[in-house]
Amino acid sequence: MRAVGIVVLIVTALLGTAYALGRSLVPDRPASDVTTSGQHYADQPPTDDPDRPTPGDDRSTGPAVAGQDGGASPSGTPTKTDGPYGTQTTSGTSQVALTFDDGPDPQYTPQVLALLREHHVRATFCVVGENAQSHPDLVRAIVADGHTLCNHSWNHDVTLGQQSPETIRADLLRTSEAIRAAVPNAPIAYYRQPGGAWTGSVVSVARELGMTPLHWTVDPADWETPGADRIAGMVLTNVEPGSVVLLHDAGGDRQGTVDALYEILPALTSRFKVAALPNGAT
Ligand SMILES: [Zn+2]
Repeated sequence: MRAVGIVVLIVTALLGTAYALGRSLVPDRPASDVTTSGQHYADQPPTDDPDRPTPGDDRSTGPAVAGQDGGASPSGTPTKTDGPYGTQTTSGTSQVALTFDDGPDPQYTPQVLALLREHHVRATFCVVGENAQSHPDLVRAIVADGHTLCNHSWNHDVTLGQQSPETIRADLLRTSEAIRAAVPNAPIAYYRQPGGAWTGSVVSVARELGMTPLHWTVDPADWETPGADRIAGMVLTNVEPGSVVLLHDAGGDRQGTVDALYEILPALTSRFKVAALPNGAT
């Protein structure tokens, strides 16, 4: 019996190792594997694997607040660049900034825009190049409503930061060109790396191209589709003056995020000034 027990233990350990290895390898899938569906990007796994860690992503520990002890200095003034590789994590003022990643999406982006309009809130949209190319009308709608644009790479490659600076530059430029094809003169002041998988190279290239690398302060993990109430609860519990809130208007089923906005927007605007990140920030 003891031998059987040892065998069971060994098999269990091996299975566990294989499982952990499999999980750790998931982000390394080629971009083409994770974007062809148009539904799930690499930092937004299917809901049957919600806890998959992503390298360099603060979300690897689940819902979290980045820079918990660095979001505000002792004087109460938010510090701005305490994210990975000096990326921006807060608005730098007392204003709260909502950010919407991975769109534009024909199903969800119009709903988000309508709700923001209703509550007189301007936000920041981190758009994916191929989606901007597919939906230039939605890029125009974002800009027409006064929101700020952010480049979120061509096809949401979480490993982009590991590529050569030339490859990174080409990807970011292609994305900005797709955005500008829709809105020729709109500023694109920010870049956000998919998965939060920043590297020194991607930060440098973004800055070279005149975009501020933008991380976040509060992540309700809406991409795990925990439901509107939990998304809203996470945001409203953790937000502080200057918080940059990470939300998604594309990349999967985002109805929970849209529904959460019905709760988030009135509550946030009663407590904070909620605004788009300024264009032209450095
Ligand atoms: Zn994303």
